[in-house]
Amino acid sequence: MEPNYRRCVSCRRSAPKDEFWRVVKSHSSGTIVLDQGMGRSAYLCPKPECLTAAQKKDRLSRVLKAAVSDQIYKALWHRLSETTSPPTTGDLGLIASPNLPTN
Ligand SMILES: [Zn+2]
Repeated sequence: MEPNYRRCVSCRRSAPKDEFWRVVKSHSSGTIVLDQGMGRSAYLCPKPECLTAAQKKDRLSRVLKAAVSDQIYKALWHRLSETTSPPTTGDLGLIASPNLPTN
């Protein structure tokens, strides 16, 4: 595996790390954040199949050795809905994390 390659926790596909979502257990706060910070990281394809599998089998929690909350999964589903098709559920406005930058 090349240095900048990472592996999806669900399908085990390896690819350059910028093709994946990065879920990080922040080294400083111990909380789970997306895309940023230093700490233990898990990588996931931005695909419904991989997100579903990761959520069902709780793979992110295992890899990160920390509980990954529903909020994180919701945020990822929300992200997916923004990049592919329009949102189909109504409660996406609830997603918020103090650790995420506000755009
Ligand atoms: Zn994958």
